[in-house]
Amino acid sequence: MMDTEVELIRKAGRIACEAKKKAKETVKPGQRLLDIAQLIESFINSMGGQPAFPVNISINSEAAHYSPLADDEKIVPEASIVKVDLGVSVDGYLADTAITIDFSGEYEDLIKASEEALNKAIESVSPNIKTSLIGNIIEKTIKSYGYKPIRNLSGHSMSRYVLHSGISIPNVGGEILSPTLKPPILIAIEPFATNGLGLVLEGKDKTIYSLTRQIGKKEKKFGEQEIDFLVEIFNERKNLPFTERWYARKYSLDFVRQTLVKAEKQRVVTSYPVLIESANGAVSQAEDTVLILDNDIVITTREC
Ligand code: MN
Ligand code: MN
Repeated sequence: MMDTEVELIRKAGRIACEAKKKAKETVKPGQRLLDIAQLIESFINSMGGQPAFPVNISINSEAAHYSPLADDEKIVPEASIVKVDLGVSVDGYLADTAITIDFSGEYEDLIKASEEALNKAIESVSPNIKTSLIGNIIEKTIKSYGYKPIRNLSGHSMSRYVLHSGISIPNVGGEILSPTLKPPILIAIEPFATNGLGLVLEGKDKTIYSLTRQIGKKEKKFGEQEIDFLVEIFNERKNLPFTERWYARKYSLDFVRQTLVKAEKQRVVTSYPVLIESANGAVSQAEDTVLILDNDIVITTREC
């Protein structure tokens, strides 16, 4: 990996680290999710990055993948547990990080469980480590608090413009044919802890999308304005996730929604439904991005 690439990866990490601080200050009961997401995303842009995906604000038993809609009225509920998951892209070089905030006074330990699991997992990282070893550590740590890791959510390797580039970092042990993390590699480690069953299911809400392939000027089955819209998304995002919010001013919200429904039917677009704990358990998440080099390990989202 070239020094210039390492520098851009670290820049994305620094911005994500600052954005996470901003999120901690901003998220309070009664705040609109829409305002929080817009504030964090604007902050990322003002620092010279772009959101790697729409800011996720997932509440209580929602584990992941809720980003406010363009006309979202939701507010942070009193006595809730809130996950803010945010990502930064600098020229396609990525950082991915998340925090959990408790407003109930009940979930401090649940949050500690995922945070300690993350810290211990990070401490264990070394070049060529087996991913199952990381999963083992995460599972053991979360269970030592009396909670369950969410077994069907995992961390992931990342490459330029690709948020999930093929290797999963499990939140449980026991994987037999486990890959090794051969440097140079960029990974996100993201333990989720719950007092539920340790399994997420897809909910009804769909708020996050990505393109499945490059869009050309002469797509069949789409009208001229639809093509303009999809090409614009491709130029800005490549295959990185996006939200209707980012396009609902330039185009009408109805047009954006109709086009996304149509594009999904044509398999040009894929969506990421909200993920909900299967027993409606409360969920905590901690996440950082780690760059594994031959002779250095950099926790990019803690460099601020
Ligand atoms: Mn994340
Ligand atoms: Mn992630």
